[in-house]
Formats: sequence, structure tokens, C-alpha cells
Amino acid sequence: MNLPVDLINSLQSVKGFSREAFEKEHASPEKVTSIRINPYKWSTSSLPLLFPSLERTGIPWCETGYYLSVRPSFTPDPFFHAGCYYVQEASSMFLEQVIKAVFPGHEQARLRILDLCAAPGGKTTHLSALFPEGFIVANEVIKTRAGILAENVVRWGKENIIVTSNDPAAFNRLQGYFDLVVADAPCSGSGMFRKDPESIKEWSPQHVDLCSKRQKRIIEDCWPSLKENGIFIYATCSYSVKENEEVLDWIADTFEVDTVSVPHAAADGIVETVSDRNTMYGYRFYPDKIKGEGFFIACMRKKGHIDEQIPDPKRLVMASKQDRNIISPFLTNPEQYELVYTGREVDILKKCNMDDIAALYPVLYIKKPGIRAGKIMKDELIPSHELALSTIIALNLRGIDADPETALEYLRKKDFSADNASKGWNVVRFMGHNLGWVKILPNRINNYYPSALRILKH
Ligand code: SAM
Repeated sequence: MNLPVDLINSLQSVKGFSREAFEKEHASPEKVTSIRINPYKWSTSSLPLLFPSLERTGIPWCETGYYLSVRPSFTPDPFFHAGCYYVQEASSMFLEQVIKAVFPGHEQARLRILDLCAAPGGKTTHLSALFPEGFIVANEVIKTRAGILAENVVRWGKENIIVTSNDPAAFNRLQGYFDLVVADAPCSGSGMFRKDPESIKEWSPQHVDLCSKRQKRIIEDCWPSLKENGIFIYATCSYSVKENEEVLDWIADTFEVDTVSVPHAAADGIVETVSDRNTMYGYRFYPDKIKGEGFFIACMRKKGHIDEQIPDPKRLVMASKQDRNIISPFLTNPEQYELVYTGREVDILKKCNMDDIAALYPVLYIKKPGIRAGKIMKDELIPSHELALSTIIALNLRGIDADPETALEYLRKKDFSADNASKGWNVVRFMGHNLGWVKILPNRINNYYPSALRILKH
């Protein structure tokens, strides 16, 4: 692997960089594969059921993260489609230690959280796991990527995430609103060279400069949306100082902030750095020192007074009592949710998040405000795929327990038979995990797995 000479030269005096070990690691064919299990769908005690033929070892900085001894094909695994785990690069999971350092009671905290650059959804789903009571706005500006983000959020199934698709500048109108903003910024990507050697061709010092400018613009745009004493987490997958420590220095020059350190990082081989001018802490991940890819993360607390200012909320249209009665039996705790119409569809929103969602509508393009219930037609719910994958669905619905072959046929959107299945809507389950819907008719089964998600490979 021919690493860019300009990159290597720029890193010579950076703390933790050791040229020989770095180049050796990049020349090695070894690839690291890691997953993070979904605590709302899977327990660590069931871990042996996931990839039973592979060796799994825990990732030191993430309780739900595991390395896999080889990279399996995830496509034919029904558990993947059921959202039981998320395939994520291990270094990124250090976000958990940052959260633990600043929010000791995160499991109970009802915070407003913005994941500003969220696609494909690694940090979003991790934040959702760390803040079960949080209100998480997962934003992705690029429309096609926002679609991928929404797909992953649907698989994850937790009702505490809304998906938006806006330029960071849109968040300017939500002054002093969020308790936590995570900006996992677009970057020059040198940290991913080992995984994606093709991307080396796109690297240049000019691109690093351009990324650094864009990173500052993104931060400037979202900064007003953070509360006084709110936490800002900045991350990149670049090694360049210009995109990391220099951006931290720029933040400290431009805004009032306190840097935050994350304890015990060094014990895991992570390198703590401080920025030149303002001694802001940052954490560097080098693949020759830890088992993972190149990554940088930093955390700070916003200082300075800012009043909360948000535009008038939109009036949401509540579902009729009749439609509520149709949908409620599909939910585990229907009393915790409001049902609202979005066009002809009905969305399920957590009651405690209603005010927040109504406040965001006038400011943001909301792609997914909650869990979609589906459409009511002729007094019947045509249930949506995301309801099947959600963690709020009732557990006593009619269902078909698919064996591995049937599960794959279902995920390929093929016809299959199900003896003795009851007529009407049925959830297809694989080892207790929902995959989607079928409708059983007197003489056939209609497979409602979304065409766009079906497995094409054999
Ligand atoms: N946080 C994601 C995760 O953990 O899966 C990864 C985010 S990726 C490093 C950066 C994201 O920023 C990409 O999805 C990219 O589309 C988005 N992006 C690109 N240009 C942007 C811009 N000008 N403002 C905000 N986000 C941008």
C-alpha cells in the first residue's frame, strides 16, 4: 500500500505516530471486523448464537462491541436484517467512553441529542443504546445517504430516534436547544486507508485543507443550537492535524469552551493529544496501537449564556379515536404513544417527545418522525415494515416462525408455504426476531417484505 508521502511527512512530529509501525500495519493483509449488538433486541448472554463458528472477543471500550475473527457475509444472516446488531468500525465505538465521562447517569437522562452528520447511522444507533430515554435527532444532509440512515434506524427499531435531512445551517434556528451535539464530520478519510485502499487516490493536502474549512463551517453552523453547558463531541476518521487538533484550536479561539478529558484511554492504547494553542484534549486511534481503524475524537463543554429560542411549533394532526383503536392492539404499551397523520400514513410518536417533534417541524425536513404504523384502509391497518422491526410492537401478534431457509426465502421476497398459519396479517419471525409482514389469504401468502431491501444474492 503506497501511503501518501505528504501525509506521512505531516504526521512525523504528531504524538503517537510511529512511521515504521504505521506503514507495517498498513502493509498487513489483516482486516478488523467488528459489530455492536442491539441491546433492545439482543442480550449478551445470547451472544453464542451470533456467528457460532467464529471467535468473538469484546472491544475494551464498548460493552456491546465485539471483534469477529473473520469477516462473514452479513447478507444471508437473518439476524442482521432483524436489526440484532450493527456492523461498525471498532475505534468509533469509543464514543461510549466519552459519553460515560460526561454523562454518568446516561441510562436515565432525557436529553435532546443531535447527531449532525449521521449517515449511515453508527453513532446514531450507539447513542440510542446509551440514552434509552433520550430524544435523538439523526441528521444527514445528503438525501441518498439520509435514506440509508433511515433504513438502519428502522432496523435498529428503537422509537427514540427521528431522522432529518438538512444542511447544518438549518440548526441555527434552534438556539440553545440541544444538550449534546455530535459532529462526526466529513473528512479526508486517511483513517480508512487500510479498509479502503482505493480512497488513497483521492487524498491530497488540498483536500485536507478543504475538509478543514468545511469542518469549521459545519461547527459554526450548529454551534448556536447547543445549550449553555451543553456537550459538543467532534470526530473524524482522518489523521491530519489540520482536521483534528487545529479544528479544536479554532473552536477554542472562536467560542467559549472547556475541554473535557476522557479517563483511562491510554490503558487501551489510545493516544491523548493536546492542541497547540488552547490545550484542548483529543484522542487519536492508530491501527498499530489499537485493534481498529484511524479515528479522532474530542469532547468539550460549551460556556457562555444562550437563551433557548425555537420557532412556534407545528400543530400535529392526531389520529381519530377509531384509527387509534385499530392500531393500539399492534403496540406493547399504546398508552405511551400518540398517533399522528403524516399524509395518508399514521406515525407513532412517543408522548414525551411530542412537543419536541412539533417544535422541529417548522425548522427541519423530518424524514422519519417516529415509527410508522402504516395506512388505514377499510378499517384495517396495512402495517408498515418499520412497525414489524420496531421494539414497540406487541409481542402477541399472529406470527410465523421461520426456519433458516424460510427466513431467507422471505428476505428474498419469494413465495413460500406456511402450514397451519392463521389467516390475515402475520409477523415473520426468525428465532423470535421479527423480519417483516406477510398476509395469509385463503389460497396464497402475500410477502410484504420491501422490494428495495430484498436480498438479491444467492
Ligand atoms: N456518523 C456516521 C456514522 O457513525 O455512521 C458517519 C458520518 S460520516 C464520517 C460524515 C457524514 O457527513 C457523511 O454521511 C456525509 O454525507 C455527511 N456530510 C457531507 N458533507 C456534509 C456537510 N457539508 N455538512 C454536514 N454533513 C455532511
